[in-house]
Amino acid sequence: MEQEYARGHAEDERTSGSEARERADRRDRAVRAAVAQGLLGPEAAVVGLLDVTGIRESAAALRAAFDAVTAPGTPVLHAFAVKATPLVPVVRLLHEAGIGAEVASPGELALARAAGVPPARTVLDSPAKTPAELREALALGIAVNADNPQELDRLDALVHSAPTRSPLGVRVNPQIGGGTIGATSTATRTSKFGVALRDEGARAWVVRAYAARPWLTRLHAHTGSQGIPLPLLARGVAEVYALAEEINAAVGLRQVDTIDIGGGLPVNVATEETAPTYAGYARLLAAEVPGLFDGRYGLVTEFGRSLMAKQGTVVARVEYTKTAGGRRIAVTHAGVQVAARTVYMPGAWPLRIAAYDAAGRPKTGPETVQDVAGPACFSGDLLAEGRALPPLEQGDYAAALDTGAYYFAHHYAYNSLARPGIYGFAPDGTGGVAFAAVREPQTIAEVVTESGGAHASALTTLRAPESR
Ligand SMILES: *Cc1c(COP(=O)(O)O)cnc(C)c1O
Repeated sequence: MEQEYARGHAEDERTSGSEARERADRRDRAVRAAVAQGLLGPEAAVVGLLDVTGIRESAAALRAAFDAVTAPGTPVLHAFAVKATPLVPVVRLLHEAGIGAEVASPGELALARAAGVPPARTVLDSPAKTPAELREALALGIAVNADNPQELDRLDALVHSAPTRSPLGVRVNPQIGGGTIGATSTATRTSKFGVALRDEGARAWVVRAYAARPWLTRLHAHTGSQGIPLPLLARGVAEVYALAEEINAAVGLRQVDTIDIGGGLPVNVATEETAPTYAGYARLLAAEVPGLFDGRYGLVTEFGRSLMAKQGTVVARVEYTKTAGGRRIAVTHAGVQVAARTVYMPGAWPLRIAAYDAAGRPKTGPETVQDVAGPACFSGDLLAEGRALPPLEQGDYAAALDTGAYYFAHHYAYNSLARPGIYGFAPDGTGGVAFAAVREPQTIAEVVTESGGAHASALTTLRAPESR
């Protein structure tokens, strides 16, 4: 069995090798075409690019991976964690590729609806749902996972006040520990998410809560995101499966009929290869938790980063180059505004950088150690520090790779830096590259409006009544 797993894994590595080369090739051609077509240049000094072919491939890989390990006829909903890339055209593209939506705020739900994702393919998971959000979700028939006992009280009231088609469940925290990044570890002892299963009396409370509510038919856990090792992810899934079995045994029927295993597959940001793969993860789960795949349970998954990270690139023009203290520095237009996590926590969130010349062609040749800096006014605004790259020159481009999730769609408005345009790219059918605007670049007028421009004298005219 172990050998079989190892063999399958090696095959995955090989397929991902050629897939990786093709993806890098598509990206290089897109950067070149973006410069040639003027999407990128002196007046558009930073853009986000999304590889439409790559997004389709990753959606297909996810579906195929779980199809290969589930009993025929098992209902499987892959719900894209919208927070990873909250862009309506991306959610629409994934929806057309057979992927639903996992949402965690009124904004994300509205994006999913704008993208045309039907309620039956949407899951709501936030830890702070208001009464109005819950009411709307149940009126629409969207699946809801209650985060805590107080939220379950609210669901009790709603379920008794009006009939709903929403599949309802509870999120649990298996408390099996964290990974290498604290901020994305959700199954720690004191995590804010879900019902902490190992706290005294909690497990028995969950079983009683299901026994008292025949409409609780789902069970949910999401063990974490980047930095969680695969065996720990698999353990989280095993824990939630064991609890479902315990609940069903206690109530004497198959009340829990669907298990939501969350997302969290880590992304390799060290090289171009996709590793781990969905196929490898699905096979690991099938080996570790076989009962989950024998057809008795429907499945929901909630992958975000692994669907999108490798399909996106931030490309920024090198405005100036300089040296300081013997260190070479390329000052670019991509920094904290498009890569907040990397800039503030470079150890936890490193990014690969690719160097392109002024025509958008990959730069080759001897490498020099240099910093790739952003435009913001604090010294830590670096995309990469002390990185060996072909020397970047004024007018060249630096690309931050694997940024299709949790980067350029998570703009951080430091220094009132405008949100860059985001463009999807695909082959144009005649050997070139076609682009489509996913999000227009923010104008400076919009920056002013967003910053209270319509209320310029709001504070100077505000007086306490007695001083008027
Ligand atoms: C963030 C999140 C996900 C997606 O995690 P990825 O690491 O992007 O796959 C899925 N489910 C829940 C509940 C989340 O909070």
